[in-house]
Parts: sequence; C-alpha cells; structure tokens
Amino acid sequence: MRIKTPDDIDRLRIAGRHLAQVLHAVERAVAPGVTLKELNDIAEREIRARGDIPAFLGYRPSSAPKAFPATLCVALNDVVVHGIPTKDDAVLREGDILGIDTGLVHEEMIVDSGRTVPVGKIDRTAQELIAVTHEALMIGIDAARPGNTVGDIGHAIETYVKKVSTFGIVEHLCGHGVGHKVHEEPQIPNYGRAGTGATLVPGMVLAIEPMLNEGSKDVIFERDGYTVRTSDGTRSAHFEHTIVVTEHGPEILTEV
Ligand code: MG
Ligand code: MG
Repeated sequence: MRIKTPDDIDRLRIAGRHLAQVLHAVERAVAPGVTLKELNDIAEREIRARGDIPAFLGYRPSSAPKAFPATLCVALNDVVVHGIPTKDDAVLREGDILGIDTGLVHEEMIVDSGRTVPVGKIDRTAQELIAVTHEALMIGIDAARPGNTVGDIGHAIETYVKKVSTFGIVEHLCGHGVGHKVHEEPQIPNYGRAGTGATLVPGMVLAIEPMLNEGSKDVIFERDGYTVRTSDGTRSAHFEHTIVVTEHGPEILTEV
C-alpha cells in the first residue's frame, strides 16, 4: 500500500464525511415496506449530489465474474455482505436486520463504510448481534496505532467477541487498505495473533470491518459471485469504518 500524504488525508476526510452523510440518509429510509432497490437509488443519488462517484458501481474484484451492478451492497438477515440490491425487488419486513455498505470516490480518494441497522422492532438476539459487532469494530479501531501490527487489530476483535458472546467471527472476508483503490494491502483479518503481520505506521488508511454470525462462522458464496450468506442460515451483522493511522492513534474518517 502507498502511505497517504497529508494532502491525500485532507481529501479523505472530506470523502469520509460525505460517506457518513450518505449512509445516514440510507439508514433513515430503512423501514418495513421499503425495497432494497429504493435504498440503492438513495445511496447513488446522495453520492452524486455531493459531486462524488459511487466506488462499488462497476467495480470488479478479481474473484468476481462480472462488475458489481449497484452502488450499495446490502445484507439482509442471513446475508453477511455484498448482496446485490437490484437483482430482485426484495422488500424489508418488520424484524429484519439489514447491512448497508458503500464506498465513494472524492477527488480520486476512496472511502468505504457500512453498518447493520434494524428494520422496525427486532428481537433481543439481533440487538445483541448488532451491538457486539459495532463494539468489535470500535475495539479493532482502537488497536490501529503506530507500532502495533495488523495482527493486533484482529487479536483485539477476536478476544472481545469471544469474551462476550458465542457469535461466529467470519474468517473468509477481511478488512483492507483503502484510499487509492477500493482494496489495497494489507488484508486485515478479524482474528489473529498479537504482534504478527505488518507494522502500522502513520499515513496508513484502513477499512476495518468485523462480520459476526449468530451461529457458525462458516459462509457460502452465491453463484452471482457476490452475495455471501451464513452456511447455517443464521443472521449476520457487519460494521465498517475507514480510518487513518496518525501518530496520535486512529482517526475515523467515515463519520460526521
Ligand atoms: Mg464496505
Ligand atoms: Mg471494505
């Protein structure tokens, strides 16, 4: 990965603030009866209204057969991440949980962020799954300090999740460097051994994104090349921020 310059980071701060506003607009629209397609359209409109470009629309990871056809990744209930909001007109129902995840390009700099939100009233386990996944993200971010390693981030997340829950930590997908491209080195697993992997230095920009399943950590990939589901059909939650490692510690870019 390229260490970001102070000028890159200034642009990333604006990008991140924009993305937080976009996700907030999408989250506000989440309600029973709303379709995933409508949420995708809100995300695209809100990104373009700020003069930015959707980073996921038309993006093709090396593992996928074709480019991603939407702006917003959606993850309804047992979908872990990367569901496509345009392939059917799935309608949200009371009690669902929905992951929303998107990225944008602002003056050539890319940020990536997501969150899982309730649709109306959700049950106690879903509330807990969401709360623990969010806290796991914050604990992972707190470990992103100069002199720590990539392994310290995963170790902090894994230690916390195992202490407070029996939720499965998804291992097939990880966080990643971001900024000039949607996915840069290093990969950031949500588990790991302290002190292992690349050492963090100021100017690194990272997307940290724990994914937790109600049941087993195992996932299956659908044939569309994108949608990832839990293998046992239990629900899954995901939270993600883009952060920059500064000499004083982590700074979250994707918040208002
Ligand atoms: Mg993302
Ligand atoms: Mg990401």
